[in-house]
Amino acid sequence: MLKIENLHAEIDGKEILKGLDLEVRAGEIHAIMGPNGAGKSTLGYVLGGRDAYEVTAGSVTFLGEDLLEMEPHERAAAGLFLGFQYPVEIPGISNVQFLREALNSQRRARGENPLSGAEFLKLARGQADALGMDQEMLKRPVNVGFSGGEKKRNEMVQMGILGPKFAILDETDSGLDIDALKTVGDGINRILRAPDKGVLLITHYQRLLDYVRPDKVHVLADGRIVRSGGPELAEALEREGYAAVAA
Ligand code: ADP
Ligand code: MG
Repeated sequence: MLKIENLHAEIDGKEILKGLDLEVRAGEIHAIMGPNGAGKSTLGYVLGGRDAYEVTAGSVTFLGEDLLEMEPHERAAAGLFLGFQYPVEIPGISNVQFLREALNSQRRARGENPLSGAEFLKLARGQADALGMDQEMLKRPVNVGFSGGEKKRNEMVQMGILGPKFAILDETDSGLDIDALKTVGDGINRILRAPDKGVLLITHYQRLLDYVRPDKVHVLADGRIVRSGGPELAEALEREGYAAVAA
C-alpha cells in the first residue's frame, strides 16, 4: 500500500533522509526503530506533507497514487493518518467539534454524506469507551491540559473515529503507563489489524511491540534503513543496543 523509494528530504538546507527505501503491503504492520536524530519523525512529517520539509529525490506511492503530489488534506482523505510524537493542543475548540469537522471534511472529499451531530456523538462515544477515555474529555478543548498519556489515548480515539486505511504512529508509546500501553496497543490492533490496512509504527522500545506484533522491523539510522528483520530484531535491539545491531 505504501512504497517509498530512494527518498531524500531536507529541512533548512540540511539533508535528513538520505535514500530511504521501504514497502508496507496491505495487511502488514511494520515497526521502525532507531537512535535519536535518525530521521524517524522526519519520515512521518514528510509522509504527512508538512511544509518545512523538502523532498529532493525519490518517490512515495500510496495506494497506487503519487503521495508527494497530494496536499496534506488529500492524503488524509485518501486514508492516511499521522499520529504525532507531540500532539498539538488547540485551545477554544472542543475535541468533538474538531473530530466531527475532521471526519466530515474527509467524508465530503470522498463524496460521502457528512454525519449528523447525533450520529457523530454515537461514534465518538463508542470509540472513547473502547479506548478507556472518559466521555468528559470529548468536550474539553483538544489536548489542552491533557497528560502525555491522555494525549496519546486521545490520538487513538481520533484514529478510531477517522478510520484510516494506513497509520503512521510516531512514538505513540512514549509517556504511557503499562495499562495505557495495553489499551493503545489493543486499539491499534482493533482499528488497523486488517487485510486491507497497514501501519508504520515508529517506536524506541520493544514493549509496545509485545502488544502490537510487527510483521517486519526496520532500523533507521542516519536517514536510511540500515537493517530489516522480523520481530526478533526488535528484541536484539533492546538487548544489545542500536550500535551493536545496526553496525
Ligand atoms: P528522530 O525522530 O529519529 O529522533 P528527527 O526526524 O526528529 O529524528 O530529527 C532528525 C534530525 O533532523 C535531527 O538531527 C534534528 O536535529 C534535525 N532537525 C530537525 N529539525 C531541524 C531543523 N529545523 N533544522 C535543522 N535540523 C533539524
Ligand atoms: Mg522522533
